[in-house]
Amino acid sequence: MSLKEDNFSDWYLDIVEKAGLSDKRYPIKGMNVWTPYGWKIMRQIDGYIREEFDATDHDEVCFPLLIPETEFAKEKDHIKGFDSEVYWVTHAGLDELDVRLVVRPTSETAMYPMFSLWVRSHQDLPLKTYQIVNTFRYETKQTRPFIRVREIHFFESHTCHVSEEDAQCQIEEDIQILERIAKKICLPYTLLIRTEWDKFPGAHYTVGIDTSMPNGRTLQMGSIHHYRTNFSVPYNITYEDENGEHQYVHQTTFGMSERLVGALIGVHGDDQGLVMPPGIAPFQVVIIPILKKDNEATVMGACKGIAEILSKHGIRTKLDDRDDRPGSKFFDWEIKGVPLRLEIGGRDIENEVVSFSRRDTGEKGTIAVANLVDGINLLLDDISENMLARANEVQKSRIQDVESMDALPEDKILRLGWCGCEECGHKFEDSTGFKILGTPYHPEKYSGKCIVCGKPVDRPAYAAHTM
Ligand code: ZN
Repeated sequence: MSLKEDNFSDWYLDIVEKAGLSDKRYPIKGMNVWTPYGWKIMRQIDGYIREEFDATDHDEVCFPLLIPETEFAKEKDHIKGFDSEVYWVTHAGLDELDVRLVVRPTSETAMYPMFSLWVRSHQDLPLKTYQIVNTFRYETKQTRPFIRVREIHFFESHTCHVSEEDAQCQIEEDIQILERIAKKICLPYTLLIRTEWDKFPGAHYTVGIDTSMPNGRTLQMGSIHHYRTNFSVPYNITYEDENGEHQYVHQTTFGMSERLVGALIGVHGDDQGLVMPPGIAPFQVVIIPILKKDNEATVMGACKGIAEILSKHGIRTKLDDRDDRPGSKFFDWEIKGVPLRLEIGGRDIENEVVSFSRRDTGEKGTIAVANLVDGINLLLDDISENMLARANEVQKSRIQDVESMDALPEDKILRLGWCGCEECGHKFEDSTGFKILGTPYHPEKYSGKCIVCGKPVDRPAYAAHTM
């Protein structure tokens, strides 16, 4: 296996292949096959996202994949932003279609014609929906599993509100949801308001959700958008207010994709393979029987019993009863990043303990069978905390304050002064090759000068090379 420090790209591809996450040999570039273990991970993440959205009164919907060109073209900036990267359906059977169909790159233009029928009065608001679907973008850059693909597994929430303020409250709720999702996956992130030239096509403003990868580049894991009435006007989504007047709704969206899988590989993985956060690990515990000729039945029976107890208590457990050497089983589950490995042999049974080994630290020890469930839960919580703390530490160490455009550290996230004007922004990006990620959504104390024009500024901007 390649080493993480030496060559991030090779290391990443090695993990994807050896942990059985996806198969890139499908005969369309950038459309990969989710293989069983990768899909199990995605389903864990999807499951948690459903839990979160359901608990915050969002309703799950599922819209058609195809969008008529006539609907797609209604919001001018939106079509301009997506024009070059959409797939078209031009034929049905032997007939050429009168109205071409877009394969959704995102679902605004599929949903909003329907929202205009669904929303009638202020009593229909807020309308809070989400869906988990695949979207399609014609990626021309080099593709990479989970990070840059042409068919993207994606969740998106779409909401409508009576006012700009209500929509703003929704964004605050989205950020709380994001915080819980990120904690579950032990991922550090930054919330940055994107520049005007980099915001989502059609948005009033966009908050980018970025994390940093081991090669020093940042990965955008998702985004949150405030649309104001930019879509409700062209799509005519209105409600009758208490005075009987028609008003346009204010809208928001929040979306994240399979890039979360890419992020967790990059942030947590090591030279032995994946390291899965317990919160979304398909298997939190793997049990390996240590068999001898004279105790096979006893040990296997004990392992089954323990697997049953753990499963009954909601701990996702795998008993590896394959006819193979323990050493080669250890190796397999290490690559797959299972947080906790239990080994049970004759001596463990005699002593009424199980032996454990942590994937995150390599620490080994024993847990008394009498205290099994609590002991395992404590360890899993500790693994989560340790993984998040470690990842936060690394992310923090990658941020560097800079005051001049000379000799910028190429593998860092830069914190700098930027006056906010487009001219200075473009000048900085063009002359350094860094991309301005934006300014903090949550204000940060700062005092400095625009790195280009020297004007005093009291909030920082962040810039980085991006994946
Ligand atoms: Zn400036």
